[in-house]
Formats: sequence, C-alpha cells, structure tokens
Amino acid sequence: MANVRAFAANSATTPLAAATIPRREVGPDDVEFDILYCGVCHSDLHTARNEWAVWPTVYPCVPGHEIVGKVTRVGSKVTKFKPGDLAATGCMVDSCGTCGSCKEGLEQYCDNGKTVFTYNSVDPHKTAPVTYGGYSERIVVKEKFVLHVSSKLNPAAVAPLLCAGITLYSPLRHWGAAPGRKVGIVGLGGLGHMGVKFAHAFGAHTVLFTTSPSKIEDGKKLGADDVVVSKNADEMQRHTRSFDLIVSTVAASHNLDPFVNLLKRDGSLVLVGAPEHPHPSPTVFNLLLGRRSLAGSAIGGIPETQEMLNFCGAHDITADVEVIPIQKVNEAYQRLLKADVKYRFSIDMASLKSE
Ligand code: NAP
Ligand code: ZN
Repeated sequence: MANVRAFAANSATTPLAAATIPRREVGPDDVEFDILYCGVCHSDLHTARNEWAVWPTVYPCVPGHEIVGKVTRVGSKVTKFKPGDLAATGCMVDSCGTCGSCKEGLEQYCDNGKTVFTYNSVDPHKTAPVTYGGYSERIVVKEKFVLHVSSKLNPAAVAPLLCAGITLYSPLRHWGAAPGRKVGIVGLGGLGHMGVKFAHAFGAHTVLFTTSPSKIEDGKKLGADDVVVSKNADEMQRHTRSFDLIVSTVAASHNLDPFVNLLKRDGSLVLVGAPEHPHPSPTVFNLLLGRRSLAGSAIGGIPETQEMLNFCGAHDITADVEVIPIQKVNEAYQRLLKADVKYRFSIDMASLKSE
C-alpha cells in the first residue's frame, strides 16, 4: 500500500481539505496512474454533503470521477496499457462481471448490485472502508475499467467526458437523437453543455432549456438551434407537443409537467439529474394522453464510454472547462449551487503537490 495526497470532506458541513489516503498495490489486472486532471461533477457536491438518502456518505469522502492521468505502472496481466500512456476512469471501477447487464457492457446496471463506484462504494479490496475518487494524486484501477483517450485532445477538457459526457451520450444514443428528431436538453451546466454538443453532433434539432437568460448566447454557440428560457410560459407554449426526446440534467427538484407537455405522442422525458429531493409526480393524464414516457438513465457502460471517447477524438469534442487548483474546490462548489459554471470545473492535480 502507498499513501497519496488527496482532498477530502470530513463531514457534510465542513469544507474539503487536504488529506492522505491509501492506494492498493498494483495487482496483476491493475493499472496505476498519476492523475493529471479531475472534473468537478455536481454528484461530488451531493456526496460530499451527504444529500442522497439512498446512498449515505462515509467519511472521509474523496470525490472525483472524471479522471485523466498518465500510467505509471501496470500489472503482469495488463495488455492494453503501458507506463507513459494516457488513461482515464469515470464513475465505476468494478462490477460483478457475470450477470446479464455486465455481460452486455452495462456495468452501471449490474443485476447483482455489485457496481463499485469510484468513490463512496464499499471497497472490495479493503484498502479503506470505501473507495476514494479522483481528487487525489494517484489511483489504481482494474484494467477493464480504464479507458483510452486521444492524445490530440486537451486532457483538462477530456476529463469531464468521463461522467458529464457519457451521461448525455448514452441516453441520446439510446432514445435516438438523430437527423429529423427534435431533442431538448434541460439545464446548461456540466452535463447539459455536453448534451447540447452531442445532440447537435448527432444531427438532431437541438433545443436548450435554461433558467439563466445570460446563457442564451453560449447555448447557441455550443450547438443549440434554439434556446428557451424555461421560466417563460409563453416561450414554453410555443413548443407544445413537438419533442421526440427531452433529457433533464437539473440538479434540483422541480415541476416536470411543463416539460411533459412539450413531448409529442410517444415522446420521452429522460431524467439524468439526481436531486436531493424527488420531483413532484407529473400529472398522470399528461402522460397517458399522448402515450408519453418518463424515464431515467445512469452514466453509460464501459464499452459505450470508450465509444464516446473515440467519437470525441474523431470529432474534436471536449468539455468547456475552467481549470482550477484543488485549493479552489470549495469555491467551485459554491458556484455550482448558483448555476455559475462555464461549463465544467477541471482540477489541475499538480496543485496538490503544494499541500
Ligand atoms: P451543474 O453543472 O451544477 O448543472 C446543473 C444545471 O441545472 C445548472 O447549471 C442550471 O442550468 C440547471 N438548474 C436549474 N435549476 C436549478 C437549481 N434550482 N439548482 C441547480 N441547478 C439548476 O450540475 P451537473 O454536474 O451537470 O449535474 C446535474 C445533475 O446530474 C446532478 O444532480 C448530478 O448529481 C446528476 N448526475 C447524474 C448522473 C447520472 O448518471 N444520471 C451523472 C452525473 C451527474 P441553467 O442555468 O441552464 O438553468
Ligand atoms: Zn458525475
């Protein structure tokens, strides 16, 4: 075992601070890498503050699941990585590997409930009570859960693809964002801005819904054909019964009916935002009169994550990032709560060396 520097939350109410955490020895199937950049996801904030009753936080908590780094060592059975390679890890580091979902490459939906998330999951290696994430110098991950990233792209801007990117890529592919389809993305934050980029890249007619009128111009620059300020009922009305698909990334509980009303017959509203408190149930008649669906989606499996990263390499797609030192992470959390991020914070992990 090795001790490495990290930033951790020690309780739901205290700011994140410097810490030392253990990393396991490199096993035969493991890849060890030095972390260059780690994105800041709103899920990091939900977890650091113990906001998800279904998934209580164990402290100390080291968040971070948008991780890009450089390989330092590999185990004897590793074939796809060698020291010096770029490597990345997202929200998962292991799963049962034998159930139907895992065999289909949908490890996030492991039928045995054995998905090991990158942080705040029981650590199967018992290096610590729970897994510790990417706000740290170094990580050791099973090869199957390590991804290749294009060296042509800026690694600081690649990191957010590992969660924000795949979480939008996957439902947009599954529910068919494509030419001739009208697709809405709700919320222009880390997830939402990747949704706008991917829906546009897939050729769908892309509409951004935002509560922030100041983001209209950016929404268009990112690829939206139209931007709707969702608080404006008249603007919303213009789009009644016109969408094939709407993906909501909103990180807070809100009324879903105004969005259900915008779906065509057979359209789907897919929730990816994971707020602390549930949304009020939408009106049942709005769903049944129109055969509309309300659905959810979680990140994406490992094969699809690699597909997404390859797509981004081929199409020169990355996140729009504000690079920060780790010492600014608490300030970044405050700004997330104010929907003030353009459009993902990416932590330069070299800043940990001064701790
Ligand atoms: P974010 O960067 O903070 O963006 C959320 C956006 O939602 C805001 O920028 C804002 O956009 C909009 N919003 C509207 N009302 C809001 C309110 N009252 N409070 C906060 N935001 C509001 O967050 P993110 O990192 O994209 O994550 C979004 C949500 O997805 C979080 O709940 C996160 O935990 C969840 N998540 C889910 C998955 C999954 O697998 N399903 C994966 C990652 C994250 P406008 O200013 O444009 O309105
Ligand atoms: Zn995330």
